[in-house]
Amino acid sequence: MTDDSTPRRTSVPFTPAGLRKLDDATLAIDWSDGVTMTYPVRPLRQACPCAQCVDEVTGKRTLDPDSVPADIRPQRITPVGRYAFTIAWTDGHATGIYTYAHLRELGTPAD
Ligand SMILES: [Zn+2]
Repeated sequence: MTDDSTPRRTSVPFTPAGLRKLDDATLAIDWSDGVTMTYPVRPLRQACPCAQCVDEVTGKRTLDPDSVPADIRPQRITPVGRYAFTIAWTDGHATGIYTYAHLRELGTPAD
């Protein structure tokens, strides 16, 4: 039985065509299918999927969102293969791998 209830998990071959800084606190990704999405950086840090921020066994978020500084900024964004980015943050955290699929879920479509 196919699971039609989770269309977001359907594999769509979109890739980021461009990654831009809109302002100090907002990133934008232009996707290859023409969609532009915006990303306030603090929620992006709070959504970090790494083993320090999410319990690997239970999938429960262990990062306290309030512990993320209000002025958090991405310092360096590095492509990982052709499926993800790592983001090094100004709080010293750099272990999160943000897959394209995850970023599509986190983004807000821009008009
Ligand atoms: Zn993390």
